[in-house]
Amino acid sequence: MLSKRAEALKPSPTLAINAKEKALKAQGLDIAGFGAGEPDFDTPEHIKQAAIKAINDNFTRYTPAAGIDPLKDAVIEKFKRDNGLTYKRDEIIISCGGKHALFNLFEAIFQEGDEVLIPVPFWVSYPPMVELTGAKPVLVETEEKEDYQVTGSLLKKYINSKTKGIILNYPSNPAGSVYYRENLEKIGRLAVENNLYIISDEIYEKLTYDDYRHISIASLDKSFKDRTIICHGVSKTYAMTGWRIGYAAGPAHVIKAMSNIQSQSTSNPTSISQMAAIAALNGPQDIIPIMVNEFKKRRDFIISELRSIEGVTCYKPKGAFYAFPNFNAILGKRYKDKTIESSATLTEILLEDFHTAVVPGAEFGKEGYIRLSFATSMDVIKKGLERIKKAVREFR
Ligand code: PMP
Ligand code: GLU
Repeated sequence: MLSKRAEALKPSPTLAINAKEKALKAQGLDIAGFGAGEPDFDTPEHIKQAAIKAINDNFTRYTPAAGIDPLKDAVIEKFKRDNGLTYKRDEIIISCGGKHALFNLFEAIFQEGDEVLIPVPFWVSYPPMVELTGAKPVLVETEEKEDYQVTGSLLKKYINSKTKGIILNYPSNPAGSVYYRENLEKIGRLAVENNLYIISDEIYEKLTYDDYRHISIASLDKSFKDRTIICHGVSKTYAMTGWRIGYAAGPAHVIKAMSNIQSQSTSNPTSISQMAAIAALNGPQDIIPIMVNEFKKRRDFIISELRSIEGVTCYKPKGAFYAFPNFNAILGKRYKDKTIESSATLTEILLEDFHTAVVPGAEFGKEGYIRLSFATSMDVIKKGLERIKKAVREFR
């Protein structure tokens, strides 16, 4: 018999759709894939060379469980350079991906009886990861007209003596929304007043568009920094999703607890990938503007195409690489012998009959929406959107 925890857990829907998409492609089907969010760029050459050098130098043994000092120093430099934040080595941990940093963190600070505030729409893995600790995710609705930012006044209504933390993700997956300074200040003050941890997932920090510039909540006030754990990683910034390097910065006692959990579970992140991550953080940063320019072109195209579909509305993302259109007007229509009663049915039809892979909005807490990653080529985007439009024309 399985544990209750394992029985209650489903696989990550984004990764499941990614796997399904790849399996269908392997069967020879021409699938337009808007599934998992990973840059379609190659990892830059100097990063790959650093990994090859690590292998040739036999840098292939266990490292300290929480990562090697030169990589911690590269992370410290990154926070100084980009966010004006000062951290010491014992305030940094290197993990096996940003997801792993979040997992370790939740294990370290949440437990049965705790409540954790999660703004909706949320990244798919937050609620299951919180539940695995025994804590309860408390979902807080946000509004498109407020850039999907949770506001201080709204948060207040959800805070009680059990509330232990709040998860902020900006730029966000799936909406591409961001947080502005004034609002971050209000949220920070509320966290101080109520003794809450702030989990600040800033993995899409570098992928922002137009005039928006990312500000980390930890940089706004020392009292915010003292209760914030920033979770980050190299996956999205440097097209390194498969290398599995993430990192977190926060109070030393929290980082220590995370390191203990890591040392009893995975041990160190891959030694070779750690060397590659040093090259990524310390080396030339020119891949970033190249990716951002390309993503921006794709964003502009995909959003205007989605908005041209009758009944569909779509927020224009200010960061990350996802479009999150509202297809509620389509729910209730029929296709062949099916009623499209949910975003899950819609995505099933799109995949099976129109060979287009998207993620159901319900997985992000928003029924009636779907998520499309535009970290894929313009050709795929054009083809996929033609197919979605054709599908909608066939719905009655
Ligand atoms: N946070 C968010 C919001 C994400 O979308 C992702 C996507 N992978 C992650 C964390 C984790 O990324 P990774 O484990 O590849 O660093
Ligand atoms: N974060 C990406 C996504 O949401 C990659 C898959 C995952 O880690 O869930 O698609």
